[in-house]
Amino acid sequence: MKIAVYPGSFDPITLGHLNLIKRASKVFDKLIVCVMVNSTKKPLFTTEERVEQIKLVVERFGNVEVDSWNGLVAEYAREKNAVAVVRGLRALSDYEKECQMAIINKKINPDLETFFLAASEKYMYLSSSAVKEMAAFGADLTEFAPRELIDAIEKRVSGR
Ligand code: ADP
Repeated sequence: MKIAVYPGSFDPITLGHLNLIKRASKVFDKLIVCVMVNSTKKPLFTTEERVEQIKLVVERFGNVEVDSWNGLVAEYAREKNAVAVVRGLRALSDYEKECQMAIINKKINPDLETFFLAASEKYMYLSSSAVKEMAAFGADLTEFAPRELIDAIEKRVSGR
């Protein structure tokens, strides 16, 4: 069974992330979406909230699990017997950071491969920060965030 891990902040999960999950879930037998705990970022949603939000929107895919991890991706992958880490590449600006991470992960866990999926044209410029910014200005999020989560995002951003 080929297991892959898709790590990220997912604060919140966007339609760009979801597009990647859908595509990667077709390539691997099992995909684990893992919310990485990052103490340097002040998130909009707690780790637990993000895990629940992702669970809600990946229910439709039969082979996607959701988890969280406070540590290194490479170690998480080893623990789960995953063969690959999946990451998305949007504009050129993602490239350097992503390559650096792939190299570090390979050093820690030489059996682990990083698979990059090119962002879909439609979501090329979509990020969690853009969703938060749009929400702050009251923009319509329908094309950017999963419909089930729009209310929660709007409420949290506006402090309601
Ligand atoms: P991180 O803080 O780890 O970068 P993110 O939640 O921002 O976490 O992103 C997780 C992964 O998803 C990254 O590889 C990122 O490049 C990718 N990603 C984010 N948004 C998109 C998108 N719109 N299309 C494709 N990949 C994306």
